[in-house]
Amino acid sequence: MIIDGKKIASELREELKQEVLKLREKYNKVPGLTVILIGDMAPSQIYVRNKEKSAIEVGLKSEVLRYKETIDEKIILDKIKELNKDDDVSGILVQLPLPKHINKQKVIETILPSKDVDGFHPMNVGNLSSGYESSIPCTPLGCYLLIKKIEPNLNGKKAVIVGRSNLNGKPMTQLLLKENCTVTITHSKTKNLKAECLEADIIVAAVGIPELVKGDWVKKDAIIIDVGINKTNKGIVGDVAFKEVSKVAKALTPVPGGVGPMTIACLLKNTVECFKRSQK
Ligand code: NAD
Repeated sequence: MIIDGKKIASELREELKQEVLKLREKYNKVPGLTVILIGDMAPSQIYVRNKEKSAIEVGLKSEVLRYKETIDEKIILDKIKELNKDDDVSGILVQLPLPKHINKQKVIETILPSKDVDGFHPMNVGNLSSGYESSIPCTPLGCYLLIKKIEPNLNGKKAVIVGRSNLNGKPMTQLLLKENCTVTITHSKTKNLKAECLEADIIVAAVGIPELVKGDWVKKDAIIIDVGINKTNKGIVGDVAFKEVSKVAKALTPVPGGVGPMTIACLLKNTVECFKRSQK
């Protein structure tokens, strides 16, 4: 089965749209998302445009603040502090990567944890690993929702996460642990990745190496989630050898059209959740 991330993301956006209508009725205001974009890197421009378009489609108040590549770090930090105090702003996102002279960690830690829609603030990271309510990084949250669509009961499943980034692998581990999976997290120093993958009922690949996970690495009936986005001379491919793996796996996400659309839908979901928590 090819997991249609586009369709599932569109259903999620529709649910959010209905929820935003109800929130507007109840509170006489809608959740607001402010995105800070520094510089003019083409991929970031495209991501931000898509985020803005989707936010408007579901009825959120959307604002994009654009700054030149050479902007002072202090101006960005002061702006974030101002947004932290603004009741019309439910969520703040600073598009990564940042220019070298701006300290990413400082930026992340300046965002109020309750408005941190990316879920990168150490407070949210800690809350997620302690099982408390928190914003969850959008891509792993999207992967999690896709897995749950295919297999609602994950009790006792063996999951192998390939890649241990703070952005993807680590939060993915926490989400699956919470669902009572037995989770193995693998990385560039893992001794026998193929053997680890062959044990898995669920594989989430977030590495950045084109078609790393092969057909003979995958157990029959496994669920495979491919986070990778790699530009190659064949076009965009994931971290999973799609053709080979699709012959073995029970379910597999395509690239593009799998995890990508879910990432943006989950950003909107996080904005709505931040708004709801702020009204409590
Ligand atoms: P990263 O570079 O931060 O982390 C990569 C991880 O892979 C590291 O933990 C590293 O140890 C591990 N790794 C490297 N070589 C390995 C190997 N040979 N075997 C096993 N593990 C290995 O990457 P990231 O930010 O997590 O992104 C991973 C991929 O996901 C990239 O292709 C990125 O473009 C893509 N991505 C997609 C989305 C989306 O919305 N679909 C979002 C974010 C990232």
